[in-house]
Amino acid sequence: MQQTNRAIDRVIEAIGVKNVLVNEPMSSHTSFHIGGPADAVVFVNNEEELARVLGIVAEEDAPHMLIGNGSNLLVSDEGYPGIAIKLAGEFEVIKQDEEDKTLVTIGAARLMSSTAAFLTERGLAGFEFASGIPGSIGGAVFMNAGAYGGEIKDVCESVRVLCRAEEQGESGRYEARTLSNEDMDFGYRHSAAEDMGMIIVSAKMRFTEDDPAAIAARVEELREKRNSKQPVNYPSAGSTFKRPVGGYAAALIEQSGLKGYRVGGAEVSTKHSGFVINIGGATCEDVLAVMRHVRETVLADSGILLEPEVRLINCSL
Ligand SMILES: Cc1cc2nc3c(=O)[nH]c(=O)nc-3n(C[C@H](O)[C@H](O)[C@H](O)COP(=O)(O)OP(=O)(O)OC[C@H]3O[C@@H](n4cnc5c(N)ncnc54)[C@H](O)[C@@H]3O)c2cc1C
Repeated sequence: MQQTNRAIDRVIEAIGVKNVLVNEPMSSHTSFHIGGPADAVVFVNNEEELARVLGIVAEEDAPHMLIGNGSNLLVSDEGYPGIAIKLAGEFEVIKQDEEDKTLVTIGAARLMSSTAAFLTERGLAGFEFASGIPGSIGGAVFMNAGAYGGEIKDVCESVRVLCRAEEQGESGRYEARTLSNEDMDFGYRHSAAEDMGMIIVSAKMRFTEDDPAAIAARVEELREKRNSKQPVNYPSAGSTFKRPVGGYAAALIEQSGLKGYRVGGAEVSTKHSGFVINIGGATCEDVLAVMRHVRETVLADSGILLEPEVRLINCSL
């Protein structure tokens, strides 16, 4: 705690008090609307600020984590004892290459929805699958987000990251690196960024040219499909569990008769049993209780142990 307080003071000095929210409820930064306070949420606006903040937290040995749009996070009711770093400002920039029009560099803080709108306008196809995913580019690359048969790995050419400098004795120094699609080792809801504690600052993605109206029609078709199948009107973190080998989490949960199962304000959605939703005032403990019951029941009924897709912050099953 002392290290964290010292780090927060130094961060305020380095990047200004307006970029630092102290004792900030994580419920304001998650799509679940759940989570107690983080010691601080820090907004960094460019790579230089990010490197400075990372240097400070490393030197002070203060716990920290990157957050994107908070759409895949379940944060403890006690909150997060550390510094949550959120990219903003220049990290939202998206830029089409002037010579190679199908290549686009997208800042990690840019939202998927506005990325899709930018690409549609310019007649660039290939991102339609991701247009309805409510996260940032950074979170999507980190998670190798996917939907409707597409995944980030299909369009991502390279990723710019900040990672710890390898030289001995320079614990606080981070350096920028560019990783190829192969280096990112994308798998199902997984990338090398997780294994190596890297921070994604931008991604270069490759698309194909098409008629903007045709792209817009496909985006709209998927939006309607999503809205008709998913409980988009309730706070959630999307699919609660990963797809198990040889099956679908939602089907297994439904077969176990758990649709509508509820603890406090948390419920297995009756519209899509793959989602646990916050029907009002749910705590993290409510959601965990639902998840535990679902896991145990599905395991007993089918022999399959569901693994969480939602990232558990300062809490566990
Ligand atoms: C209604 C709903 C529908 C959803 N549908 C889908 C879907 O169809 N497909 C799908 O894949 N997901 C889906 N999700 C889940 C979620 O939107 C994705 O996982 C998304 O990619 C998370 O992005 P985020 O920016 O919100 O990341 P966060 O939830 O903030 O973070 C997720 C992880 O990424 C890390 N991270 C975030 N940014 C960075 C960065 N710049 N550098 C390093 N690490 C970073 C965080 O530390 C964390 O571990 C859905 C969620 C909701 C609420």
